[in-house]
Amino acid sequence: MKRIACLDLKTVNARQREELIAAFTRVLDSGRYVLGAEVSAFEAEFAAWNGSRCCVGTGNGLNALSLIWRAWKEQGVLAEGDEVIVPANTYIASILAVSAERLTPVLVEPEAETFNIDFGRIEAAITGRTRVIMAVHLYGRTADMTRITEIARRRGLKVIEDCAQAHGAVDAGRRVGTWGDAAGFSFYPTKNLGALGDAGAVTTDDEELAAKVRALRNYGSEEKNLNRYQGVKSRLDEVQAALLRVRLPRVEEENARRREIAECYRTMINHAHVRLPAAAASEEEHAWHLFVVRCERRDALQAHLAACGVETLVHYPIPPYRQEAYARTTVAAGSRPVTDAIHRQVLSLPMGMHLTNVEVAQVAEAVNTFVFPGA
Ligand SMILES: *Cc1c(COP(=O)(O)O)cnc(C)c1O
Repeated sequence: MKRIACLDLKTVNARQREELIAAFTRVLDSGRYVLGAEVSAFEAEFAAWNGSRCCVGTGNGLNALSLIWRAWKEQGVLAEGDEVIVPANTYIASILAVSAERLTPVLVEPEAETFNIDFGRIEAAITGRTRVIMAVHLYGRTADMTRITEIARRRGLKVIEDCAQAHGAVDAGRRVGTWGDAAGFSFYPTKNLGALGDAGAVTTDDEELAAKVRALRNYGSEEKNLNRYQGVKSRLDEVQAALLRVRLPRVEEENARRREIAECYRTMINHAHVRLPAAAASEEEHAWHLFVVRCERRDALQAHLAACGVETLVHYPIPPYRQEAYARTTVAAGSRPVTDAIHRQVLSLPMGMHLTNVEVAQVAEAVNTFVFPGA
């Protein structure tokens, strides 16, 4: 049996090979390689696609998030030491963006079923220094934005969305990245909308905030040779913008295929010891960036699947609060049993445009033949 890859970007991007080469050639021949027509066009197209008023391209997803914090600090909305509520099981980038700006991440346990922040625990985590709730749509599943924005409004907090894993997902009839005061997207190659290198963007309806992010990503300059802020350098690359313009019109179709694969897994996998990801209220609420199952003997399941020729990955083996980077900080404090259990049990099955229906069935069959140790 041919080995089934968890993800195969070469195959995915080969589907648009000629168009991608044409886009690259367009940039090559333009002679303009930084902040040119492609970046402006992609920003306009992505904003329109997502239903956001403004989009500002950045060097990557981590910087997109950091630039929002930085802009809010320039606006006096945030000050060093202010607290930001984040889900404890998110990818570490969400938390690094907070701590890099000298804000304090306050970790809240997720729900084991949806992998998203446990709404019921948010209120207890709010203190006099809390300023922002960060919603992360982890694995492509939308966080409960109706309830999160309601608490934020009631408590006078801002909401930021980390949309790095959820391009195109719709929560309660509304696109992710349009619910919060601002959102950060990543176009890292593996994401639902991926470039052929690093890339990211901020979306917001707040034009003043967008203008600040735009200046901050470019040395803090709004006008050549005039530096209004102590900015950074994190611009969306011109070549990546051109490539993203080729990839963007395919995202809907690709997300639909991801939903189809998820549905196949959900109907075909039937194992007493393998828990499937929870279904969402509407199928659009999941962009299925990853299809993540849980198993008490995850490593044994992963070894069994490898023996069956099925490659799987773990997103993520170690929770951020247990990483050495945060060992001597408040992030490391406290016990987080739900987060620990998730990181011990999760396994990501193959997901993406590279899979055929036959391969999806083979993966499901391989899961079903797993002999649970001791069972
Ligand atoms: C990928 C990712 C990021 C960071 O994006 P980069 O483009 O890799 O910097 C942030 N948050 C989450 C949840 C991610 O998955």
